[in-house]
Amino acid sequence: MTTSQYHPETLSVRAGSESTEFGENSEALFLNSSFRFKSAAQAAARFGGTEPGNIYSRFTNPTVTMFQNKLAALEGAEQCVATSSGMSAILACVMGLCSAGDHVVASRSIFGTSVQLFSNILKRWGLEVTFVALTDVAAWQQAVTPKTKLFFIETPSNPLTEVGDIQALATIAHQAGAHLVVDNCFCTPAIQKPLDLGADIIIHSATKYIDGQGRCLGGAVLGSKTLMEPVYGFLRTAGVTMSAFNAWVFLKGLETLHVRMEAHAKRALELALWLEAQPQVARVHYPGLKSHPQHALAMRQQSSGGGIVSFEVKPASVQTAQEAAWALIDATQLISITANLGDAKTTITHPATTTHSRVSAEARAETGITDGLVRIAVGLEHVDDLKADLALLTR
Ligand SMILES: *Cc1c(COP(=O)(O)O)cnc(C)c1O
Repeated sequence: MTTSQYHPETLSVRAGSESTEFGENSEALFLNSSFRFKSAAQAAARFGGTEPGNIYSRFTNPTVTMFQNKLAALEGAEQCVATSSGMSAILACVMGLCSAGDHVVASRSIFGTSVQLFSNILKRWGLEVTFVALTDVAAWQQAVTPKTKLFFIETPSNPLTEVGDIQALATIAHQAGAHLVVDNCFCTPAIQKPLDLGADIIIHSATKYIDGQGRCLGGAVLGSKTLMEPVYGFLRTAGVTMSAFNAWVFLKGLETLHVRMEAHAKRALELALWLEAQPQVARVHYPGLKSHPQHALAMRQQSSGGGIVSFEVKPASVQTAQEAAWALIDATQLISITANLGDAKTTITHPATTTHSRVSAEARAETGITDGLVRIAVGLEHVDDLKADLALLTR
């Protein structure tokens, strides 16, 4: 199907889908590792690349290919390469496009494990990394060196939902001869399309909203054919590819992406407005709120505020901030205490002692991740039940 003639909701349901001679209406799961050839000559042609077709599921698999084509259509990307997890998507992107001695400028407000990958692992292999504040555009300009290959951001950021200016950062990256990479995990293409705003590469943890129901691990890297060629080259060789079963689950997840993201965002906004009105809450971080420092920018880049809300709990006089946050979390009956996000089940977490516990206390203070901060990934339950579950805030 030509993707440009249909609306995004239709692409979610229909794009990338193909059927076999059996005419199945739902995508088939190809749970096989290798593919048979009609002859030795055909095998040689497939391996030589002169004849298209599947060889081995580490290289290509029809179910994974359908997932890649669907997500590429949704992001408006020439090519998508599926990976075993969100982390392996970031690894494949850097290993495909950078060499020892190259330099990456990364936002200091990225997923905790992404910070570890850049600063502890990739640094050992000779990659230079500079971390700067997401919203300080001048700092990105200053961080550029002749060796800079990539700018790496997440917007909105985790857990404070700071919003980075994709267009401005893409301009600076391009002037430096570098590429802008956007981890679009929090928004998904249902809310934000970074390539349309000038970004070059998109990263996804499919584990989150693309799955949508907390079942499988997976990831993806998207961009032009030219940029994806070395990324795919790394993947098929290193083997951190997506399993066919997981791709089949994600294909089903993508079909409902637009209705789910709308429902998550609607509930998140309502909960954020309610939280703002609670005397026990010092501050709410949500891009859809007028009080958010980059609200106007967020509303230019995104079709909604998304599903993640974080807020600071005010401690009672006898409590520390951490005690107040933990008391609120421990008093919940319905909401799941877990660090995952993008699930139909609402989740609650204390970033300072979980997702960001490996970040030093100074770095946390610098980025605003206080001991009273609580993050909620709003699921699909009725919002009144979520408010009732946070009743400690109303006392
Ligand atoms: C979860 C997450 C990742 C890592 O994805 P995995 O699938 O867990 O490997 C990367 N970036 C963001 C923003 C995430 O939330």
